[in-house]
Amino acid sequence: MTTEFFSAPLGVFGGTFDPIHFGHLRTAFEILQTVRLQAVRFVPAGDPPHRDPPQVDAARRLEFVRAAVADQPGFVVDDREIRRAGRSYSVLTLAELRAELPDTPLCLIVGMDAFLGLPTWHRWTELLELAHVVVAPRPGWVAPNSGVLGDLLAARGADAAGTLHNALAGRILIQPVTQLEISSTELRDLLAAGRDPRYLVPDPVRALIRATRSYSVSQPTR
Ligand code: ATP
Repeated sequence: MTTEFFSAPLGVFGGTFDPIHFGHLRTAFEILQTVRLQAVRFVPAGDPPHRDPPQVDAARRLEFVRAAVADQPGFVVDDREIRRAGRSYSVLTLAELRAELPDTPLCLIVGMDAFLGLPTWHRWTELLELAHVVVAPRPGWVAPNSGVLGDLLAARGADAAGTLHNALAGRILIQPVTQLEISSTELRDLLAAGRDPRYLVPDPVRALIRATRSYSVSQPTR
């Protein structure tokens, strides 16, 4: 039997969410259950580093995220990166959460594509001092077995979710999830082409996209 010293871990799921889709939501839901998280906080980026500016402004992306998670207990929206001035660096968000929740293990949730880019993140070596990392495999992206991330996985990899309950930070768990090959980029392209996003996004998000005419051809595409 495992002795648990801390509160149940909190999932922290950052993203541009431009727009949020079922790939994000199913991944977060399965990790909520399998890792036995107390909750998953969705943290939409205000000004995401390492990419072109989002197509839809932060307030509206936040509205879509709120609509997407509204009926799911354990899913929470955290708008701090939108309220905070400057670039939306995850290390700043995790440092704030660590100060607010000193006894709660934090689990930064990322897809495998994002994990492979981790060494480019601002102050990336501090991330594992603040949180665990839970990695969701994505179609087409392979876990690293060499290089800096391969070494990190060898040193910090966790075999089971329980490991994340017994420390505040510092471990990496690759957690199998149902892999849905949906991306926001493909959704934006589909919407720009006038196609219907039904079954790729929750119905309330689809309704909001329609009502606000977001991602329509009349808007600039990137
Ligand atoms: P874009 O196509 O605009 O880059 P995206 O669909 O990858 O967007 P983001 O908001 O950039 O979505 O991603 C936020 C996080 O969600 C990242 O860690 C990313 O790896 C993860 N993610 C995105 N789509 C999926 C998916 N289909 N399955 C699992 N994880 C996903």
